[in-house]
Amino acid sequence: MTAEFPDATAVPAADAASGPEAGRVGGSAASSRADARGDGTRVVHAGVPAPVAGEPFLPSPVFGAPYHLDPVAGPQPGVDGYGRTDNRTYRLLEQAIGELEGGECVVFASGMAAITAVLLATLRGGDTVLLPGDGYYLTRAFAAEHLPGRGIEVRTMPTAGPYPAFDGVRLLLLETPSNPGLDVCDVADLAARAHACGGLVAVDNTTPTPLGQRPLDLGADFSVASATKALTGHSDMLLGYVCARDPELIATIRTWRARTGGIPGAFEAWLAHRSLGTLDLRLARQTANAAAVSELLAGHPAVASVRWPGRPGDPAFEAAARQMRRVPGVVTFTLADKAAVERFLAASDLVFAATSFGGLHTTADRRAQWGDDAPEGLVRFSCGVEDTTDLVADVRRALDAALG
Ligand SMILES: *Cc1c(COP(=O)(O)O)cnc(C)c1O
Repeated sequence: MTAEFPDATAVPAADAASGPEAGRVGGSAASSRADARGDGTRVVHAGVPAPVAGEPFLPSPVFGAPYHLDPVAGPQPGVDGYGRTDNRTYRLLEQAIGELEGGECVVFASGMAAITAVLLATLRGGDTVLLPGDGYYLTRAFAAEHLPGRGIEVRTMPTAGPYPAFDGVRLLLLETPSNPGLDVCDVADLAARAHACGGLVAVDNTTPTPLGQRPLDLGADFSVASATKALTGHSDMLLGYVCARDPELIATIRTWRARTGGIPGAFEAWLAHRSLGTLDLRLARQTANAAAVSELLAGHPAVASVRWPGRPGDPAFEAAARQMRRVPGVVTFTLADKAAVERFLAASDLVFAATSFGGLHTTADRRAQWGDDAPEGLVRFSCGVEDTTDLVADVRRALDAALG
């Protein structure tokens, strides 16, 4: 299949042996066995504790604001005391995501809570941050609204280049593939250039998920993401995370969360962990659907342009093949105008109009309606896990209707 690049990164494994949680699931022999396993096996077992007779596979959520203290000894290391810093359910989820990203993980209540943690915990007055000008628009909006007043200079660059010099850049935030344009940048190359200038590098890994791309292996200091999208994939929760390998960096993020309080609820953390087990299956179908849908779009007269990094000939194809392990199920295309998108949506039975992406259900989002500076007819199309034949037939009918 053109859409999967299984050999693109040298380190496909879970990294349990080198991660901070090494040994928690059974020592180095078990860790190196886990390293050799495929994605489907890894997501089913990630962060799941050793079996205990009579207990569920995945421990049930633990709800607690304060927990019992030892009435005499008081707070004890390793004993949960208060829910803003201590929760067994989100620790297990952090272990799971950390295994998949190859680093230590801190989970947050949403993707924006995670991204703003990276920005605010690493930047000081006098610093400069460089962001993708074509990336997730709320990240840019946050930076524009809140960073200059703190003495932080905000610069932007296009994901596909050309790139400015990185002198004086304290934090380079990349987003690849970018949302919604689906351009791809070379993380290893840009990270090396930013590090040479003394900067830190964060990658928004929302769209690919750690099964599609492992930014820490590519040299990034942080992998940050919204788990609201494909990682959890059922369109029923918000969640975010930050991963890093450097103990000081991740400690800074953990302390930031403890002080600002953006933790996920125990039920959300449990639901996310439960959803992880099907990630490999969901992505495989979404990618197959995106391959078929992008082919259909490319040949249809209603479509002015289509972007999908898994399609040979796409401007991002070569770069994606070099650094990604698989291409996500998100396709971006442009119809003539707003009315054409309305006809498309009205004619489809399977495509839900919705923002967000990466879920079980195929969705389409006309980005201009959110104030994104996108063309009026631009649609971010997120392939669900429906049967490919059904989805292609439905989209073909809707495209024919879009012609008017
Ligand atoms: C959705 C999204 C976010 C924000 O995540 P939330 O969970 O909605 O807060 C950040 N980055 C990208 C690329 C996204 O798609």
